[in-house]
Parts: sequence; structure tokens; C-alpha cells
Amino acid sequence: MGNAADEGMKLVDDYIDAETGLLVCGKCHTRKQKRISFLGEERIVCCLCRCAAEELEKAEKERRDRETLEDISRLKSAGLQDKTFFGYTFINCDETHSCAGYAHRYAEHFEEFQKKGQGLLLWGDVGTGKTFLAGCIANALMDRNIPVLMTSFPKLVNALGGVYSGERNEYLQSLNRYKLLIIDDLGVERDTPYVLETVYLVIDERYKSGKPFIITTNLSLQELQNPADLEHGRIYDRIMERCTPVAFSGRNYRTDRGRANRESVSGILRG
Ligand SMILES: [Zn+2]
Repeated sequence: MGNAADEGMKLVDDYIDAETGLLVCGKCHTRKQKRISFLGEERIVCCLCRCAAEELEKAEKERRDRETLEDISRLKSAGLQDKTFFGYTFINCDETHSCAGYAHRYAEHFEEFQKKGQGLLLWGDVGTGKTFLAGCIANALMDRNIPVLMTSFPKLVNALGGVYSGERNEYLQSLNRYKLLIIDDLGVERDTPYVLETVYLVIDERYKSGKPFIITTNLSLQELQNPADLEHGRIYDRIMERCTPVAFSGRNYRTDRGRANRESVSGILRG
């Protein structure tokens, strides 16, 4: 019995293969040396036996996995502008929520939506889970190493306020490095001409980039379809064109079936 334990502890010895004269690994029984021709001379050089090569590959994979995790945590700290968003994940999601499936499928099929430049308009009353499900989408994509920015208009207005007017365009365009832009709570920002203009610039830049964005809002679809004036209208029009409306009432879901592109998008969302 003691012998068996000793056997396990003992290091396996490498040996010389009688036929080739080369060193062989005592563990995996593949060569640790090979013959090469160097300046017309034959030489014996070291090489990796199979188990050493596997060992190396495993360490390499662990390093890559660790780096990916670090990349993801960097993505999240840059992309989630509110600490509470970190906990908004599908794992914490009540799957019986009527809109959870749509959010899930949007994240799952993101590459298709990205090609179409299609986002979502999550609209409905306060406390129906719009921000939560938007956050679930953000976290799910960043877990796949896809850069997402989840922010709000008050935060964007604030950030743009600190940028020289000459660099505003650059700042707005820099938002396009995010594959998905999520802007939470449209309509809570102050309704001044300056703020309205900023909201328009952000939406218009994203619209022109052809990249998808998700908007959450307490405004009703009726309010968005019947804007009070031209200034609101040009914002809402761009949102309505690129974002499939998903109604949050806690129970109901409705999509606007007005456009052909939206039809196919809605198809994917319904699964
Ligand atoms: Zn070996």
C-alpha cells in the first residue's frame, strides 16, 4: 500500500530510445529531442513532448480566458454608467415577465439586428422593468465581449457640456465605437432648447452611423407618434424608424407593424 503511494509521488524518468538515440518523455513516451540539419551538419535539439505541449497550450488558454474576463470587466466599467446596472442580468431576470423573451432574443440575435441597424424602443409606465431588461441586454452582450454603452440623456448632456464646441462632433462620433448604444429614460431630461438640440445631435449621429440603439422611455407610443412640435418630431421620427417598439405594461406586448423591415425584426423577437 505504501508502495502505491510512493509510485504516485515518484517523478517519471525520461529515457533514451535505443533505436533512435533520442531522449523520450517518461510520462507520455513521445520525443523530447529531434535531429535537425544545420549548416550541413546533423544536430540534436530539444523539442516539446506531447504532454509538455499540452501543458503549454492549457496555460496559454487559461491566460487568454483570464484576459477575456479582464476585457469584459473593463468593458463593463466603461459601458455601464450606473453601478446598479451591473446587477441587471438575465440570470436575475424574472422570465415570466412578458417582455423578457423579446429582450433575450434581441441579445441572442444581436448580430442580425446590428446588420439591419435595428434597435428597440422600450416604452411604458414607470416600474415595468424597461431599464432592467435594457441592462440585461447590455450585460449579455458585454459578456460576449461586444462593447455597449448604457447611459442617459442627462448624462450625455452633462458630458457634452464639458466638451469644447469644436470637439462636440468628435465626442458624438466616439459613441459609435460602441456596437450598441442604450439611452435610458428619454423624456426625463429638461425640456430646454439646448437640451433638446443635444438630444437631437446624439440621436441623429447614431441614426446616420446606421448602428443600433435602444431607447427606454415613459412616454407613450401615441406621444412619440404625435410630437408637439418639429423639434421633438425630428428626434422621435428617427427613433421610430430604427427602433422596434416594445410596450411595457407588465403584461402586454405590442409592435408597430408599419414597416417591412420591422416585420422581419419582430419575427426574430417573437422567436
Ligand atoms: Zn511528456
